[in-house]
Amino acid sequence: MSRANRRSFLRYIRYGWMALSLGILAVPTSPALACDGAQYIRLHTPVQLSAQELAEFRALPPLRVVSVDAPPMTHYSKDQHTYTGISVDVLCFIAKELGLRYELIPGRNHTVGEKIQQVQDGQADIFIPLSRSPERNRHGVFTIPYYESHYAAITRKGRQLPIYSATDLAQYRVGIVGGVSLEPILKEIIPLNQLIIYDKLLTSDALFQALRNDDIDVAVFNKNIFIEKRYKHDLFDLEPTYTLHEYPRAYRFYLSHTPQHQRIAAAFDRYLAAIDSSASIARHENGERQLIERYVAQRSQRVLLQAASVAITLLALIFYLVLRRYRRLARQLADGNQQISQQKRALQQAYQELEKLSQTDSLTGLANRGHFDQTLVRELARRQRRWSPLSLLIIDLDHFKLVNDHYGHAVGDRYLRAIASVLENSVSRPADLAARYGGEEFACLLPDTNAQNARVVADRIRQAVARLDLPNALADRPRLTLCIGIATLMDSTDFSAQELLAQADSQLYAAKHAGRDRIQATVLGKHTRGLTISAQQETMP
Ligand code: GH3
Ligand code: MG
Ligand code: MG
Repeated sequence: MSRANRRSFLRYIRYGWMALSLGILAVPTSPALACDGAQYIRLHTPVQLSAQELAEFRALPPLRVVSVDAPPMTHYSKDQHTYTGISVDVLCFIAKELGLRYELIPGRNHTVGEKIQQVQDGQADIFIPLSRSPERNRHGVFTIPYYESHYAAITRKGRQLPIYSATDLAQYRVGIVGGVSLEPILKEIIPLNQLIIYDKLLTSDALFQALRNDDIDVAVFNKNIFIEKRYKHDLFDLEPTYTLHEYPRAYRFYLSHTPQHQRIAAAFDRYLAAIDSSASIARHENGERQLIERYVAQRSQRVLLQAASVAITLLALIFYLVLRRYRRLARQLADGNQQISQQKRALQQAYQELEKLSQTDSLTGLANRGHFDQTLVRELARRQRRWSPLSLLIIDLDHFKLVNDHYGHAVGDRYLRAIASVLENSVSRPADLAARYGGEEFACLLPDTNAQNARVVADRIRQAVARLDLPNALADRPRLTLCIGIATLMDSTDFSAQELLAQADSQLYAAKHAGRDRIQATVLGKHTRGLTISAQQETMP
């Protein structure tokens, strides 16, 4: 991918992500209080309310509730968009008793301070849960507490700072999130230059990061909330070293100073004094165990996913390598096959050429004696199936020795080639075969040819040679002539190749004796007199 392509690809990803985020933000999420936990709240003493009070509460519009994520009092579940916790159980229980309706105000991103402000400004009616501080008390009204929790001194794991009481914190650089209820107390214990306040933060990440960076030695933070965060954000390199039991934080409901809210707070107080919330507390304090279980489940799921993706990657890699190797082998095989078939073709060609060479006479290019003999044997065998006539011509040049003697061997060779081309032209049917049978001796095999037609062929040869008009000065006739002995096999007369050759040869011999430059023929057939074989002989000067 080129740099420009990569840049535009990244831009698409960014835009896509932004669009997706906007889409998610645009989806309205309306968190609610999960009130099924109200069943864990009991009254150990009955509470009496006047009919007037009840009528007033029932007539009120729904209470607008603001909440923070502070386990075990309140815990927000992202999956379900609900708050659970001790505060929720208690609120739901009392609201039901009083006939109060309620609804949760959205705004999870607001800080605690902003939410307190919402109550003071009349945008919200009740804040759950909040611990009392003189400052908060000036602007709103608190109910009596329904749950106590503690702050803890949190350090990096293994530092083992000797902290046995809150006053020991004075020796260290201590960090807190600004606005927490313990802030004024710590300001009294710790020298101001050692107290670092992480102010107006939406999250406590900066505080824990400061611990890791060694900017502070101790972070003071609500112990339960830290434990929750620890599992959520993998803060396992940090640990609560000391719990500040000296300063228990009592959590309450917080309302505004309006007379109506004060009446509600007073009614809440009567119930808070009469309820037994131990079952709810036990249930939600047990949350750490659930956190661990959830964490372990998520962790093993993550490990499983990682293992699966590693396995898939490995499998894909192996598959790719095997495929590549298979392709390479297939290519090599195809190349090999191609080479083999090329070599096979070349071999066949060479073999055919060799076979042709072995059957050919090198001087004249005619068939050689070996090939002629094989063909003759084959033709004689084939003939036995239908007894067609077959003629054999043996041709010998007259006084050829004198040609060599007088003109030299090279001229003799040229004469032999000239005779060969005469034979090639004269013996032209596909089944016919002309061959150089010996030095200056030729043979023609004419299948399906009777004596008459064989004679025609022999005449054609003799005349063509005469037309060549090759000089042979020392001979009786000073031109090159030849003799042809013909043997024709008729009807079912069966001769071996040797016998037939001998018959043609003897005709040739007779022609020589008769004075050369002539054709002499014999017809071999069965006569009515019996099975004796006779020869009709014929000479032509
Ligand atoms: P005849 O009429 O009785 O057949 O007499 P001729 O001289 O033809 O017969 P002979 O058998 O005495 O001689 C054959 C000659 O053919 C002898 C040899 O030198 C010649 N000859 C055989 N093969 C070749 C060849 O390949 N090239 C040449 N130039 N001459 C050859
Ligand atoms: Mg000869
Ligand atoms: Mg001769």
